[in-house]
Parts: sequence; C-alpha cells; structure tokens
Amino acid sequence: MTILDGKQTSQNIQSEIAAEVEQIKARGEKIPHLAAILVGTDGASQTYVGSKVKACARVGFESTLITLEADCTEAELLAEVDKLNTNDEIDGFIVQLPLPNHIDEQKVIEAVNPLKDVDGFHPSNVGKMALNLPCFLPATPYGILQLLERYKVETEGKHCVVIGRSHIVGSPMSILMARNSYPGNCTVTLTHSRTRNLSEITREADILVVALGKAEFLKADMIKDGAVVVDVGITRVDDPSKERGYRIAGDVDYEQVAPKCSFITPVPGGVGPMTIASLLMNTLQAAKGKVAVHG
Ligand code: NAP
Repeated sequence: MTILDGKQTSQNIQSEIAAEVEQIKARGEKIPHLAAILVGTDGASQTYVGSKVKACARVGFESTLITLEADCTEAELLAEVDKLNTNDEIDGFIVQLPLPNHIDEQKVIEAVNPLKDVDGFHPSNVGKMALNLPCFLPATPYGILQLLERYKVETEGKHCVVIGRSHIVGSPMSILMARNSYPGNCTVTLTHSRTRNLSEITREADILVVALGKAEFLKADMIKDGAVVVDVGITRVDDPSKERGYRIAGDVDYEQVAPKCSFITPVPGGVGPMTIASLLMNTLQAAKGKVAVHG
C-alpha cells in the first residue's frame, strides 16, 4: 500500500512554483498576484483564506485580502468583484465560499471574469472543462489529478466510482476521470444520496473518490482488494483527548480501509494540501496570460 502524500506533493509543487517566480523576478516581469474576498468572520473560511494568503507568500506571489462585513450587500460585493475584474495588477482572484444567505452565490460566481477565475467555478470554465478545452480546473479535482499523475497511478480502462456530486468536487471529478487523457480514460460511475446499493457499486471500483462529507463512511467491506482510494472529506469530530476538543476525520475509515488499498490518501495530509497547490498553479497560469491545457 502506498500513501498518496498530499503534503509532500504540495510542497514539491510549491517549490517548483517558487523557482518559476524567481525566474520571473530575474527577468523583471510582473510578479503573479492573487486576491481573495472574504465576507464575514466564519472561522473555517478565515482559516482557509489565511492559508491561501500564506501560501502566496511562500512561493513569492503578491496577495491581497479584501474583507467585507457579514452584512454587506450583494451590490457591495459585486462592486468589489468588478474592481478586481478590471484591476490589471490582479491576475486571479477568489471569492471565499460559502457566502451569507442574503447573497446569491451563483450571481457572484458568474460576475467573476472567467480569465481571472482561478477557482474554476464560472460556468464558462466548467463548460470548457467538460469540452476538454483550456480552462481553470476547480482546485480540489485538479489537486487530485496532480496526485494521481505524480504517483503514476494507472487510470486507463479502470472503473472509477465517485461518491458525491457537488459542483466543486464530485461532479467535476467524474467529468475529468472520464476524459480521453491521463489521468482519465476511466469508466466512471457517479453516485449520490439517492444511489441504491452503493456498497455493491463501490466494491466494483478500481479507483474510488469519496466526497460526501460523512466522517469515516467508507468501510473496508465496501472496497475490493487493491483499490485506489482518494478521501476528500474533512469533518470535525469531537475528541476530548485533543487540546482543541476535536480531530479532523476523512470520509474513509482509514485504519480499516488502508491495508486493502494499493494507494490511499490520508486525512489530514492528502487532498487538502493539494487544493492550495492547485490554486497557486492556476494563479501562475493566469499571470502568464494563458489558461492551462489539461490532458
Ligand atoms: P456537499 O456539497 O455537501 O455534497 C455532498 C455530496 O455527497 C452530495 O452530492 C450528496 O448527495 C452526497 N451524499 C451525501 N450522503 C450520501 C450517502 N449516504 N451516499 C452517497 N452520497 C451521499 O459536499 P462537498 O462540498 O463536495 O464536500 C464533501 C466533503 O469534502 C466535505 O467533507 C468537505 O468538507 C470536503 N472538502 C474537502 C476539500 C479539500 O480540499 N480536501 C475541498 C472541498 C470539500 P445529494 O447530491 O443527493 O445530496
């Protein structure tokens, strides 16, 4: 069993990006610049945005954090989006989700200039992804592809089962694994909460991408020997033995499942760190003025 080490792989990618930024500096060209808009004071969102800003500093990118009050209006947020769309200093930006209920998330996503949409959430980028055209891939699926590629995990002709159909993870993952490229060329089954006989389907999987947000959901009797298991889940589980009172759990019962796998991602240290690496990769592409061709 091989651990797909997202922490190490993310560090490797960040070192590669840092080296490229050094070259950009040496040539006297513009330093890549990522901006983030954070609305409100949700703890998890603040942590995510904070780690994105820190990652920018590590690789030598410029970064700008714009914070808005939780009760800001949709119009105020859209005005900030517009400023970033037209600010030539900013190569790419993200609006940290989720947004407060009174703001229409889809409207905000669609307001972002697709050429600066380094989260890959704009319908234009989603459509291009489906057509296998150059685009920004959503960060988490892009990170998973990077992990599979860097560990040379075979995907061609394999049966890939994805659990979860969210717009940010499961659905794009199913599209990407079915593409005629590497990683890809899988026969894909996309499952969700209405799927019947889920265990029968997961036991048929050569590659399983588990993204439903239920701690330790996937058990050993739900997979076949030698499966590749990618665990996307991040759930806080109460744990009085920890100083902070909780631990982070994935969607996979790692202790039980890992011995049966050929490859598996741990939580933490698997998919999570790769998501940040992908955002930086997208920002570098945006700064170079061209969106990446994937596959
Ligand atoms: P989400 O939007 O909540 O979607 C969950 C999906 O799982 C839905 O499609 C749902 O089906 C499906 N589902 C729920 N219960 C199920 C069941 N019993 N059997 C089969 N499918 C079931 O989740 P998400 O945003 O994709 O996130 C999933 C997990 O990944 C969360 O723990 C999240 O924190 C984590 N995450 C991690 C990263 C990272 O960087 N590592 C990034 C994003 C998300 P329906 O569509 O039918 O409701």
